[in-house]
Amino acid sequence: MSGSGAQGPNDNDGTERIAAIVIHDVAPATWPQCEALLGMVDALGAPPVTLLVVPHFHRGVHARESRAFVDALGARVARGDELALHGYYHADDAPPPRSLREFVARRVLTRSEGEFAAIADAEARERLASGIALFAEQRWPLAGFVPPAWQLNDATRRALDGAAHPFAYVPVRAGIHRLPGWQLEPTANLCYSPDSGWRRAMSRALIGREWRRAGTRRLMRLSLHPLDARFAEVVAHWRALIERALTERRPVTKREAMA
Ligand SMILES: [Zn+2]
Repeated sequence: MSGSGAQGPNDNDGTERIAAIVIHDVAPATWPQCEALLGMVDALGAPPVTLLVVPHFHRGVHARESRAFVDALGARVARGDELALHGYYHADDAPPPRSLREFVARRVLTRSEGEFAAIADAEARERLASGIALFAEQRWPLAGFVPPAWQLNDATRRALDGAAHPFAYVPVRAGIHRLPGWQLEPTANLCYSPDSGWRRAMSRALIGREWRRAGTRRLMRLSLHPLDARFAEVVAHWRALIERALTERRPVTKREAMA
């Protein structure tokens, strides 16, 4: 994490440099960890945050069944945060992988969280519709669909194209698609895999590399996960990264970034 120096929010070509702080896997079960991360971010000048809501996380407590959760999200919307739809169950329960490559992608890299990686058409349509219905009933504005583990198959694309609700954007790991045309804007994307020492060390190295490459990108995404909150060193690193990003870039929600 050295290098980029005193770059202002505008690049040489006049493009404004922006940063989206994103909290993944927001659900009643993960809300205590999400709150801890939000407390850390809010203390850095209360920049806008994008919260990725999973309506029925791992088939546990449904979002609408927790009044406290729904109220807390309503308060975040009122202060200018964005809520985006992040899958429905956040679990890849499609038929088992049939090739080694598929196995690595679905079981090793994403640890069976890629709900929309291998989903069938009808199921994709149904889960999208259920997610859209939750946002509509809570009167939460909805612009983004973020597939869990940033993985989506063609059936999911078809379901998004045919959905009653017009989505504005769909992120993947390396960038964000702008709908309805599916143009991909490459972005920087910082992300932790925190749950073992070697994964944390690898994450630090990848984040450092991503940061150095970010200078050429209009948008930097800082992708925080509830699990990150369990490790003090990870939270401290995020605090430093966000602090620094805010000196170089204007904080925005993803919706604003893709408007
Ligand atoms: Zn997720």
